[in-house]
Amino acid sequence: MVSFVAEKRDYYEVLGVDRSASIDDIKKAYRKLAMKYHPDMNKEPGAEEKFKEISEAYAVLSDEQKRSQYDRFGHAGMQGYTDADFYNSATFSDIFREMGFGNYDSIFEMFFGGRGRRESGRGADLRYDIEIDFKEAAFGAEKEIVFPRMDTCETCHGSGAKPGTRVNTCSACGGTGQVRQVTQSLFGQMVRVSTCGKCHGRGRTFDTPCPECRGTGKSRHVRKLMVKIPAGVEEGLQLRISGEGEAGSNGMPPGDLYVVVHVKSHPYFQRYGDDILCVLPITVAQAVLGDEVEVETLNGRAKLKIPPGTQTDTTFRLKGEGFPSLRSRGRGDMHVKVVVKIPTKLTDKQRKLYQELAAEEKAGKNKDKNIFERIGDAFKS
Ligand SMILES: [Zn+2]
Ligand SMILES: [Zn+2]
Repeated sequence: MVSFVAEKRDYYEVLGVDRSASIDDIKKAYRKLAMKYHPDMNKEPGAEEKFKEISEAYAVLSDEQKRSQYDRFGHAGMQGYTDADFYNSATFSDIFREMGFGNYDSIFEMFFGGRGRRESGRGADLRYDIEIDFKEAAFGAEKEIVFPRMDTCETCHGSGAKPGTRVNTCSACGGTGQVRQVTQSLFGQMVRVSTCGKCHGRGRTFDTPCPECRGTGKSRHVRKLMVKIPAGVEEGLQLRISGEGEAGSNGMPPGDLYVVVHVKSHPYFQRYGDDILCVLPITVAQAVLGDEVEVETLNGRAKLKIPPGTQTDTTFRLKGEGFPSLRSRGRGDMHVKVVVKIPTKLTDKQRKLYQELAAEEKAGKNKDKNIFERIGDAFKS
């Protein structure tokens, strides 16, 4: 239902380039593969699929913005684009022209059956903002969302006519919903196609409008939907749920629903990409003598060894305790920064121990000093 495809191959892998490849390398790699799999060149089964795959990878990696989005979020980062936005890149036309192939529009239409341009009558896209917890972002979640939406009217099934009343084929357009105007011009015959004004593109007219939708064929419904949030989502990620937007008119497809994910902050963890950072206060004694402590992680608790002589602000890494990566099967790490807390209130016993410690430190220092330094110290105090 969510068009989130985890099994998709990595775009860099598809084009056989590495992640640091320059735009020229990417272009070269695509050109080479396109020569091999372009439908004009290769009629073997599977070639068209392959051509689609490399074109998709090229559409992303040749566009600076899409590429950085992909580098950050992986395939999930691409969900926010409509097909038209996704392939809307002049680079295709250029590269096909250079290679002597037909233009990009015809390829595009071949892939998507002309869905490249926004069809008139297609339902509107909807946006839904959802807020999830920090841990839900780490583990993924299924969330029920409820939102109002214009759907096809159930009473008249979208015809707009009161059930049981007469529905006529539109006399102006003959039921096609479109009218053609043919004019003769200097350049020959020109045909203009526009939506029929009499039936508003419906192709049918009726005498009595449906009481439920007042003839529009659509009515407002409350839609409930379970949305699967993939593990590892980041703030601002858009999930496209195809066909869950508003209903289309005149038999056109519905729009899409975009679920925009917002992640609540956590009191203890901070996130940096797939890694998380937390700060752990420790005592002077723990820093000096070392200790083994338990720290909270996303998965529960983990043991952390603090070696003797640890300085304040030292960061320890707990491997694999970060977020699952949307780009790969790997996981980020957790970084624990220890901060030595200097006590401001002491018990009598603690004070005594610190005083003993101070005396010991002084004695230790003096042991290494020569007679002149000791005389100097005596004058200072
Ligand atoms: Zn109706
Ligand atoms: Zn008509």
